[in-house]
Amino acid sequence: MVTGPLRATRALVRLAAIRANVQAVRRALAPATRLWAVVKANAYGHGAVPVATTALAAGADALAVALPEEGWELRRAGIASRILVLGPILPEQAVSVVSADLDAIVFSPAVIEALARGAVDLGRPARVHLKVDTGMGRVGARPNEAAALAERIVAEPSLRWAGLMTHLADADHEDPEWTRGQYRQLVRVVEDLRRRGWSPPVHAANSAGALRFPGLQADGVRVGLALYGAAPWAGCSPLEPALTLESVVTMVKRVPTGFRVGYGHTYETPGPLTIATVAAGYADGVRRGLSNRGAAIVGGRRVPIVGRVSMDQLTLGVPPDVPVHVGDPVVLLGRAGALELSAQDWAGWLDTIPYEVFCGIAARVPRLYAPGSDASGRPTGFSSWPT
Ligand SMILES: *Cc1c(COP(=O)(O)O)cnc(C)c1O
Repeated sequence: MVTGPLRATRALVRLAAIRANVQAVRRALAPATRLWAVVKANAYGHGAVPVATTALAAGADALAVALPEEGWELRRAGIASRILVLGPILPEQAVSVVSADLDAIVFSPAVIEALARGAVDLGRPARVHLKVDTGMGRVGARPNEAAALAERIVAEPSLRWAGLMTHLADADHEDPEWTRGQYRQLVRVVEDLRRRGWSPPVHAANSAGALRFPGLQADGVRVGLALYGAAPWAGCSPLEPALTLESVVTMVKRVPTGFRVGYGHTYETPGPLTIATVAAGYADGVRRGLSNRGAAIVGGRRVPIVGRVSMDQLTLGVPPDVPVHVGDPVVLLGRAGALELSAQDWAGWLDTIPYEVFCGIAARVPRLYAPGSDASGRPTGFSSWPT
């Protein structure tokens, strides 16, 4: 009988890095500003429950997810903090949201009424955040609809008006005016509601918004990407990457000039080379677009991915002077000593963003967690959650 993950391809998550990033964000906020740690999509692939637990212990006030199901997962794990569902819900999901005591966003009378009814039926209040679209163009009430929706919220005794929010479309954009323009629109709504006697807590900023525009932190911020250690915009001071995707060398061969590698024979060795085959492929999230573009770290060197990435395997072109053996660890994403392959590196190769890189790490890759690190900052004691 064997136990535990034997697969050498795994994502190691340093919870100490999550903790440090939460604390760095916390330091950038006024003490009373609520920090919503965004753990949607399995905490950007890092593992929702371990990240949520760590973030709360490190100073986050509350959590945010995209889907009611994600909120349920956290509740099942015993997490009692406030949890905001950032995605729009449909009226038929209202009961599920209220019964898990999740905060919901609202921007239509139908969902306001469904939540109010669900709250009455279940005999507990429902917390709602009025979402205003100030320029994202995705979901949210138009600014001129906010007051009428607010009337409906306050008219329902079973509802608690827990927030007024918007979402920034361009906080990472070079030109800060885009973001300031959105915020000005939100401020106009805030002022209008205040004149009518209402002042719910306001939140607008994501990672880039919160760290780059301190004036936009309002009563709360919703921070995801920064918690995972990826830079939310190009000029951000460094955070600590939490995740390392690693695998192992399964075969090594010395080959001559003109040796062809992989599906489609897209790579031919220009000279004598060592080909190291690795036990990870696009079914693990090592995207096929990294074929003949990406890199990995093996034997203390950064070496190129050569040939096509296949479903479960890929091949590296290792210079003949680099010692490499079957069983050697390979870092595909993250830090290895002084070397690093960042989510931003992957994003550049794949013409995407770090968010998609993290979310693309497949469910079949086991996540292992290190609770701490030794004096030199090296993570210690990786194991499945709970550690
Ligand atoms: C995902 C999300 C966030 C967090 O964004 P980051 O850029 O990862 O910090 C904040 N608010 C909303 C509405 C979101 O959907």
